Amino acid sequence: MKIVVIGAGVVGLASAWYLQRDGHEVTVVDRAASVGMGTSHANGGQLSYRYIAPLADPDILGKIPGWLLQSGGPIRFRPRFDPDQWRWLAAFMQACTSNAKLRSVASLLPLSLYSRSLVHELIAEHGLEFDFVRNGKLVLYRDPASYASARRLLDSTPELASEQSALDPDACLALEPSLERLRGKIHGGIHTRSEDAGDCHKLCLALAAKMASGPNPVRLELGQAITQLERHNGRITAVHTVVQRLDTDACVVAAGSASTRLLGDIGVRVPVYPLKGYSISMPLTPEANAPTLNVTDYERKIVYARLGTRLRVAGMADIVGNDERIVARRIKVLIDEARATFGAWLDHADITPWTGLRPATPSGRPIVDNVGADNLWLNIGHGALGFTLATGCARVLADRLAGRQPAIPHADFLLSAA
Ligand SMILES: Cc1cc2nc3c(=O)[nH]c(=O)nc-3n(C[C@H](O)[C@H](O)[C@H](O)COP(=O)(O)OP(=O)(O)OC[C@H]3O[C@@H](n4cnc5c(N)ncnc54)[C@H](O)[C@@H]3O)c2cc1C
Repeated sequence: MKIVVIGAGVVGLASAWYLQRDGHEVTVVDRAASVGMGTSHANGGQLSYRYIAPLADPDILGKIPGWLLQSGGPIRFRPRFDPDQWRWLAAFMQACTSNAKLRSVASLLPLSLYSRSLVHELIAEHGLEFDFVRNGKLVLYRDPASYASARRLLDSTPELASEQSALDPDACLALEPSLERLRGKIHGGIHTRSEDAGDCHKLCLALAAKMASGPNPVRLELGQAITQLERHNGRITAVHTVVQRLDTDACVVAAGSASTRLLGDIGVRVPVYPLKGYSISMPLTPEANAPTLNVTDYERKIVYARLGTRLRVAGMADIVGNDERIVARRIKVLIDEARATFGAWLDHADITPWTGLRPATPSGRPIVDNVGADNLWLNIGHGALGFTLATGCARVLADRLAGRQPAIPHADFLLSAA
């Protein structure tokens, strides 16, 4: 079958990978001149298989007003005359219940563990290189109530308990000595032994390079924005870019947060809204104090990962629409937090700032579904976990498209469940 995949981020490329392996003739189209230039470019780098609790959490509701009042808070909100923004916020508030959170955790965990096995397979069988490391993750809690809530989740989810341990502050610092500056500031941590990290952009480049060579290569059409999905008699018959018309037997939309508009143009409404985040990356000099584990500062909503010879610091969730400008004062928050945590070597570091739009659903669950036309497939809405979940979602999509039963339950990833 001829299949056009829209979007050369990690989700689109992973989708193309499994579709190609099923023998399809795949073309990936992206408006950017290279692959992995959207949200997949400089994200937090965490393959966070067991730490998959969604942002929608009963604890978060009480904190949001305080965060919104702080200029350096982890969440910022700019109200807009945009019904999508208000609809998304209303649905997000509804998802901030214990039951909704437990449902998302219950459906995301099998997906993330499945994704982990597929990532490990990509590395072992295909030698993909992307600064991948199996280093484990430490989530730090400054607030006793948040720590208590994390421990409750651990206790109530036996699948988590086998890989995770709750640690007191001394045990956290003994495990990750680079955090010494936080002595007296943290209340405890959850250590997960089985977490990984890697460079998502490098994974995109590696996937694209492998797929574009060999028999039945995937065609990459880059630097071409999609302008229209052509639909006749309930089928997508062609995809129009700014320069050409591509006939197709099936179409996969994996365009991140831009999918909402693209699909809206053909009357398919999806609850995917951009949550803007930021990262900074800097090369590690020999004297740099940096973590070996992936570290998450839970209250600050900041993650730290060592990616090859660089430190990546990422965080923030700004509800400001499709605004891709890098705001200097948000970057300064990341620099100040990183400096307070790892020391003054950051003053002399060569820092690369970046911003990206997380394609977020209110529940935190992605959408992998066939809607809007017989041959139109969505692989969207991966929010804060797209790097982690890309392989699992792509495999579910390829299985469903081929009429095979996916290896994991997928009903919670239907558009009707979003
Ligand atoms: C600050 C930050 C930190 C994060 N940290 C992590 C993390 O540690 N771990 C994790 O798992 N996830 C993390 N994420 C989330 C992860 O980066 C995203 O979920 C993931 O990159 C989404 O991938 P995607 O392929 O759906 O979107 P994208 O990477 O944005 O790809 C979509 C592509 O579609 C293209 N496109 C859009 N519209 C059109 C059009 N009309 N025509 C042609 N092409 C189009 C874009 O150019 C883009 O390349 C983070 C995100 C942010 C912002």
